[in-house]
Amino acid sequence: MTRAKDPVKAATPKAEEIEGVLLGSWRGMVQYRCRLCPFDTLDRQRFIEHFANVHPPLEVIDGFAPADPPVGETAVEE
Ligand SMILES: [Zn+2]
Repeated sequence: MTRAKDPVKAATPKAEEIEGVLLGSWRGMVQYRCRLCPFDTLDRQRFIEHFANVHPPLEVIDGFAPADPPVGETAVEE
């Protein structure tokens, strides 16, 4: 299994869809700044990876419940 990525969203980047971003500009280019730390980059994908790696979603921190296995994917138990 590969990581869940929506190829449509990847092909049509919209800054508004990026979690935790503050948009700025740097020499006429879009700059992606992190709301939670001093990180900034001009690369949208790099920002997304930064935010996912450094600032995990709150539900992961608070709940930390393992997700249910995908239906039909794990028939190995028992
Ligand atoms: Zn950050």
